Amino acid sequence: MGVLFGTDGVRGIVNSELTPEKALKIGQSVGAYLQPGSRVLVGRDVRAGGDMIFHAVTSGLQSQGIKVYYAGYIPTPGLQYILKTHSEYDAGIMVTASHNPPQYNGIKVLSSQGVEISRDTEREIEEIYFKGRLRRASWNGIVDDVKMHDGAIEEYVEGILHHIDMELISSKKFKVVVDPANSVGALVTPLLLGRLGVKVYTINGHLDPLFPGREPEPTVYSLRELSRIMVKVGADLGVGHDGDADRAILVDERGNIWWGDRSGSLIAGYIADKYSSLPRKVYTGVSSSVLVEEYLGSKGIEVRWTPVGSVIISHKILEEGGAIAGFEENGGYIHPMHQVVRDGAMKTALFLEMMAETGLKASELFSLLPHYYPIKTKIPMGRDKAVMVVEKLREKYSSFKTVSIDGLKVFGDDYWFLVRPSGTEPVLRIMLEAKSPEKAEELLDTIKKDIQSILNEV
Ligand code: MG
Repeated sequence: MGVLFGTDGVRGIVNSELTPEKALKIGQSVGAYLQPGSRVLVGRDVRAGGDMIFHAVTSGLQSQGIKVYYAGYIPTPGLQYILKTHSEYDAGIMVTASHNPPQYNGIKVLSSQGVEISRDTEREIEEIYFKGRLRRASWNGIVDDVKMHDGAIEEYVEGILHHIDMELISSKKFKVVVDPANSVGALVTPLLLGRLGVKVYTINGHLDPLFPGREPEPTVYSLRELSRIMVKVGADLGVGHDGDADRAILVDERGNIWWGDRSGSLIAGYIADKYSSLPRKVYTGVSSSVLVEEYLGSKGIEVRWTPVGSVIISHKILEEGGAIAGFEENGGYIHPMHQVVRDGAMKTALFLEMMAETGLKASELFSLLPHYYPIKTKIPMGRDKAVMVVEKLREKYSSFKTVSIDGLKVFGDDYWFLVRPSGTEPVLRIMLEAKSPEKAEELLDTIKKDIQSILNEV
């Protein structure tokens, strides 16, 4: 049987890989999986073809006797929050390709609790999809009218504010620059920060499916403009979201861009101090730095490493009795008290509360962490080739301490690196850290040469 779902839903170049025909069939298969008469809430980000995919999915759902509700443009965590807090919805569908390049779109299936469905549920839906086991409604069992779920953004913002000391943050009169990448984060984060008494500046703030401001993935490269502008206006913090705003990469007042394992470690440490009754553990992917363990370990917090992917982290937290936090180096942060999925706006509010509570500037907070210099890059290659390269590297580095939960992580004396085939793009991802920028560059050179010599052999 074929595979429909990748590590985070269905993704593809819109109208060539992800066609309306395919979206229709996905809608039908999800509809057939649910009980007849179930209610499904659908939302979308700003991406091209989002309306087309929404209508195709809706048509498929309706053909199976499902009632469809529409939340409109909304960040993924916003839709997830509405699902969690409204018992009338049996499932959700988010039309998004998250951080992928602009030509992509995708479909993410969510449970009635707002969490991405498990791999087992995906398999059941795949079986329906590939075997065509549909359950068409009779002519008089079709509910035609899509009903709007109005006010979703406002409900979501209220949900975040419920967990935050609004007065404390307001008293600090922070200045923050937000870069939502011309997508749905623009609808939430500036509004949320305004409610927290923050002076907000927004760049790339109008919705535009062509992503004219920057690519949808928040990286050191794509956020360089945010970094420059926030230093110019003397902002206390910068926030860069991905296309569906479940991630937030933070920038300190000096313009330094910090990966999510850094900001995640700081926030998790803060939450652990604030709520002492929480289980003393955090979950993070193998792509996070060893500094997570050094920093949180010193506070008596256990770090549980997982394969890369926020869905895995969400399910682990749910299955293993809760956690202080789950987070990823890519900027995803889960605050389980709010909801057990990553949430870029929630993360931003928590970081501001930590700044207000400690009285420390963002750069002063980040300087509390052990120092490693990271490099993240990717080499374009098909998945089969990427898997082969990782296998060959495993042989080459067999005398080192390694972790192979996902890809290959190699631990050196004062450095580490991870190579893994991406689950969402045809690339080999490389992450590494060393104690100085020069050593990090040297390490990258060595790894690239290793990879080149492997590719030359085949
Ligand atoms: Mg995302």
